[in-house]
Parts: sequence; C-alpha cells; structure tokens
Amino acid sequence: MYDYDVLVLGSGPGGQKAAIATAKLGRRAAVVERRDMVGGVCINTGTIPSKTLREAVLYLTGLNQREMYGQSYRVKENITIADLLSRTQHVVGREIEVIRSQLSRNRVALLPGLGSFVDEHTVEVADGTGPASRVTADRIVIATGTTPARPSTVDFDGATVVDSDGILSLDRVPQSMIVVGAGVIGIEYASMFAALGCKVTVVESRPRMLEFCDIEVVEALKYHLRDLAVTFRFGETVAAVERHPRGALAVLESGKKIPAEVVMYSAGRQGMTAGLRLENAGLGADARGRITVDEYFRTSVPHIYAVGDVIGFPALAATSMEQGRLAAHHACGETVQGISPLQPIGIYTIPEISFLGRTEDELTAARIPFEVGVSRYRELARGQIIGDSYGVLKLLVSPEDRSLLGVHVFGTGATELVHIGQAVMGCGGTVDYLVDAVFNYPTLAESYKVAALDAMNKIRQIEWLSD
Ligand SMILES: Cc1cc2nc3c(=O)[nH]c(=O)nc-3n(C[C@H](O)[C@H](O)[C@H](O)COP(=O)(O)OP(=O)(O)OC[C@H]3O[C@@H](n4cnc5c(N)ncnc54)[C@H](O)[C@@H]3O)c2cc1C
Repeated sequence: MYDYDVLVLGSGPGGQKAAIATAKLGRRAAVVERRDMVGGVCINTGTIPSKTLREAVLYLTGLNQREMYGQSYRVKENITIADLLSRTQHVVGREIEVIRSQLSRNRVALLPGLGSFVDEHTVEVADGTGPASRVTADRIVIATGTTPARPSTVDFDGATVVDSDGILSLDRVPQSMIVVGAGVIGIEYASMFAALGCKVTVVESRPRMLEFCDIEVVEALKYHLRDLAVTFRFGETVAAVERHPRGALAVLESGKKIPAEVVMYSAGRQGMTAGLRLENAGLGADARGRITVDEYFRTSVPHIYAVGDVIGFPALAATSMEQGRLAAHHACGETVQGISPLQPIGIYTIPEISFLGRTEDELTAARIPFEVGVSRYRELARGQIIGDSYGVLKLLVSPEDRSLLGVHVFGTGATELVHIGQAVMGCGGTVDYLVDAVFNYPTLAESYKVAALDAMNKIRQIEWLSD
C-alpha cells in the first residue's frame, strides 16, 4: 500500500541507523537526504571533521611529545590550513563512501533532496533540479538534525565572523580568535586553535563552563588551556562584533574590547524543522526547532518518530545512532526497552574528557554517600612512557554496596578508557571486580585497578574506624 515500510528524513547517525535497522529486519527502507550531505552534520561539518582536525593538530604540533622532547618540539613549523584540511577531507570522503556502501548493501534507497510532509504518510522530496516527487510510507522517522544557531544581531561573513560550520572554511590559521560560548563545540575548537599557537579568548555569559562535568576535571582543563594561552571571560556577554579591515573587535557588555582575527560563535544549535511542513502531518516543534517524543521516540503522531539532535539533549552522534536503531525496531513491531541510562559523554578538548554516571556534586545533592578512588597517569608506567603526566581517572564508589556510581577520566585516551567502567557498571559489577582483575601492563587501563584499590583502601579505613 505504501512505497516504503519506513521512510527516514536525514542521513546523519540517527537516520542511517534507523534505515539500516529497518532493512536488517527485512522491511523496505528509504532515506531522504541532500545530495551533498550524505552522512549528515556528523560526517560533513560536525563530529568527523572536528575530530580529524584535532588529530591533525595533535600530530603536526607534536604537542603530546613535548614532555619528552622539549617545549620547542614540532613535527611541522608553519602549519597551514591546507595541512589541516587535507586530512579532514580525506577522512570525510572515506566516511561518506562507507555510508553510501552500507545503505546500498542493505538495499536502503537514497532519495536525493529535502523532504517535507504533504500529509502524515506522504513526503515530498525536492532537490531543486527538477519537479518534486512524492513518496509514501507506513512509518516515518524524522532525523533532520540541527544547524548552528545564529543570533540575528550578528553579521556572519564566513571569514571574520563564523560559526562551527564556517570554521572549516577558514583560509588561514588565525593568530587570534574569540570563541563565543564555552559549550562542548566551542571549547573543543578553542583547544585546537590554542594548540596551534592561536591566542584564544573564550567569552561565556554563564559563570562556569561544562557544568555537567566533574568540577575537578573542568578545573584541570582550564589550567591546561590557560597554559596554552587561552583567556577565559566568564560572566561576560558579547554586545557587538565590529568588523574592520584588519580583523574584528568584540565589544563586551562590560565595556571591554577584545581584538581578534576571527570570531567563532558557538551559540547552541537550532532543530532543522522549519522546512518540514510539520503542520501537514499534525506535528509541531518548539522555539528551538525541537520535536517532543516519548520513550520509544514516537512523536504525538504515533507512526511518526523523531531521533537524534532534532529531539534535543544529549545531541551526540553516539546517542543518535542508538535512538535511530530503537525507533526503527519499535516502528517494525519489535520489543524495545528504553535507551540505556548509562550514556557516556566524550569531550574532545585537549586534553580530552570522558565520563559516565554521576558527578560528585550530583551525588552530594542527592545525599548519596560515595568514596573516591583516584589514579594519576604519572604514577602509571604507560603514563610515563607516553609523556602524559596530567591524566587522571576517578571512580566514585558506593561504600554501601561497592557499586560504581561514576567514572571520570581526563587525559590521553579518556574517551576510550571510559568504556571499561561502562562495561562494569552496565553488567552490575562492583569495584571488587576492578580490584581483582589483572590488566595488561603497561597500560592506561591499569588506572582502573589503581583507582579501585584507592577507593577500597578508603572504604576499609572507614569500616575499621567504625568497628
Ligand atoms: C562541531 C561538532 C562537533 C561534534 N562532535 C561530536 C563528537 O565528538 N561526538 C559526538 O557523539 N557528537 C558530536 N557532535 C554531535 C553530532 O554531530 C550530532 O549529535 C549528530 O550528527 C546528530 O545526528 P542526527 O542523526 O541527528 O543528524 P545530523 O548529523 O544532524 O544530520 C541531519 C541530516 O538531516 C538532513 N536534513 C535536514 N532537513 C532535511 C529534510 N527536510 N529532508 C531530508 N534531510 C534533511 C541534513 O541535510 C543532515 O544531513 C558534534 C557536532 C558538531 C556540530
């Protein structure tokens, strides 16, 4: 009766995984996407370009080797934008091929263009090259993601005043930069440009940054970024950005003026729903373009689902993928548990941050007792070998049942290491497992054992005193 069982709008992580999961369940799936955006924001302008750029920065600056070879160590002296972007373009190109191939191997049709609702089962697809076509589906998944929010008062010119998309089109590595907004994206780019030797000023209207992270980890990050000549202006708001022939001048509401070659706005993101004609399907979005869903990712129209950044927090590629898979399973009549509450957060600053579970502040506010076990990389042989003297892994452990309440990692490999804690927590393990486990030596993974022993020693001391 319908052209497809499941039609997906958007080919980012949420859309891809929804379509592939549908096909794996033996149903007919199609994805609507602009010709030049296969892979979504994730592959084209977000996760993959930024993480590849970071890798290029770390390699070419030799930053991670300076502990060993001295502060003047560089792999390349004058790093150009071409040096950085050639790696990015290579990886993005490969990733697009991988996605196209996965979709075609699984017989998922890729319909080029932008989709908009005609009614609750019909979508019009227009790619601007000819007449629009219409396609029908039993179930529809909206995975149209977000676009950088642009304050109307700011004149973005793509060269001096840019957003996180425009930063990938700079024609040079600027000597100075203002990053407006100390959210994850802003602070990741601030790290990268600071590592390149650019003088970065971060302006943030809130009194602190990354408030959902462990406070000690954020303090450590700020210390490292200041060491790379980053200046923080918390509790300050940019009132205006003046563009001059030789650069920009940011005027803060406090009256301060900050000169910079480039100003990057990272002022949140807006859901891509404006062009969807949601009203034709009986749907709507909030002021930030986001769609409300239930635990199975159903919108208020039960056969239409929404996943990924368009539904808001946590707006991560990792979570979007899982939401897409779960939505497709639900749409195809499979039994679905809600998404696991154990979602890791990875922040690719320099150094990187990752965590899982609760923070000390959250546990204290909830009056949940905990003990802290800490391991510092500089006390691990692997930490010495790789020259990471600042890394730290912190376990928050319940003294009552010895379960892990939180894992917080700062330093090399943090975003990988966190998954050991995730496996233990996800399987209901306790700190005893980590105390008893033998880890490869010398590794950073060993930090789990060291931190577990530290926590256990503290718990034992309290038990001993309480006897
Ligand atoms: C700079 C940056 C760095 C990031 N780094 C990370 C990271 O390190 N780790 C991480 O997990 N996440 C990261 N993210 C977030 C991650 O990119 C997003 O969470 C993820 O891409 C969201 O996936 P999505 O499925 O919602 O769709 P998106 O990737 O946002 O893609 C949506 C797609 O829908 C298409 N679309 C829009 N409207 C229509 C329409 N009407 N019809 C058809 N198609 C349409 C768009 O063209 C787009 O291709 C980063 C984001 C940015 C911007």
